[in-house]
Amino acid sequence: MTIEIRKVGVIGAGQMGSGIAQVAAASGYQVLLNDISEERINAGLATINGNLSRQVSKGHLADGERTEILSRIVPAASYEDFADSDLVIEAAVENEDTKRKIFQALCPFLKPTAILGTNTSSISVTRLASITDRPEQFIGIHFMNPVPVMQLVELIRGIATAEGTFEATRDFVDKLGKNFTVAEDFPGFIVNRILLPMINEAIYTLYEGVGSVESIDSAMRLGANHPMGPLQLADFIGLDTCLSIMQVLYEGLADSKYRPCPLLVKYVEAGWLGRKTRRGFYDYRGEKPVPTR
Ligand code: NAD
Repeated sequence: MTIEIRKVGVIGAGQMGSGIAQVAAASGYQVLLNDISEERINAGLATINGNLSRQVSKGHLADGERTEILSRIVPAASYEDFADSDLVIEAAVENEDTKRKIFQALCPFLKPTAILGTNTSSISVTRLASITDRPEQFIGIHFMNPVPVMQLVELIRGIATAEGTFEATRDFVDKLGKNFTVAEDFPGFIVNRILLPMINEAIYTLYEGVGSVESIDSAMRLGANHPMGPLQLADFIGLDTCLSIMQVLYEGLADSKYRPCPLLVKYVEAGWLGRKTRRGFYDYRGEKPVPTR
């Protein structure tokens, strides 16, 4: 049975959740947006409005469309609001305990046919599914950052994911105008299994003094034709998220080659999490980003 998705719930209104809410609303879905407080939800809505307003000023979107898209996104302070959602996508912080608590609290309010998706970057989809009341209707739907710009969504089946769940989610991704790849449920899936060890190695390169922030980033931009240097990219992803993914790879694959660089740990301990806190490998508080090492 393929379930038709009309109403989409999003849990977590940070970088990813707000992006997912934006693209879903822009594709005509009714969207509910949840976070731990009203302020966080409003911050997510303000980000979406900022993105859409930029598109209006560039002439890519009519102002009427901007207001229409925004009107399709409704704040959801409590899980009760998700009772008629067809698909709920969890995009809260990359912390297994937080995600577990969300699913446990959310499930009793969902209708029996509702599909649950997680936007986790690295945590086992099968393990997250197992704590819900619907492992057959649970799937990994991994968007890339920034969601409105990036073309790819990784789809990850847990061991119990039903074919109908996969098909409905794939149709939803199609309707968003995104491409998908299918990854098996192993730590980091495809993109982050490859990308994060590279970023971690760039941080080791900095830690060992092989190069400065600027020289490492320009080396990879100009020497490997990467559109963004790895440290710039790490700031963009969020250093807390990078560290969590490395920990999942390290523990999940039990191989020392994935150990998180101590310098990454130090930045996270300092609360220098990258762009979202305005300081990471670069300081974004001034007009131009300034390297912090
Ligand atoms: P973020 O820090 O920007 O946002 C996380 C949000 O989750 C915050 O607004 C926080 O208040 C909220 N949150 C925390 N606990 C919550 C709870 N119990 N209920 C509801 N909301 C809660 O992080 P992000 O970059 O948006 O990452 C979110 C998820 O997306 C993570 O699982 C991450 O691994 C994944 N992801 C991130 C990227 C990336 O590049 N940043 C890319 C793909 C996937």
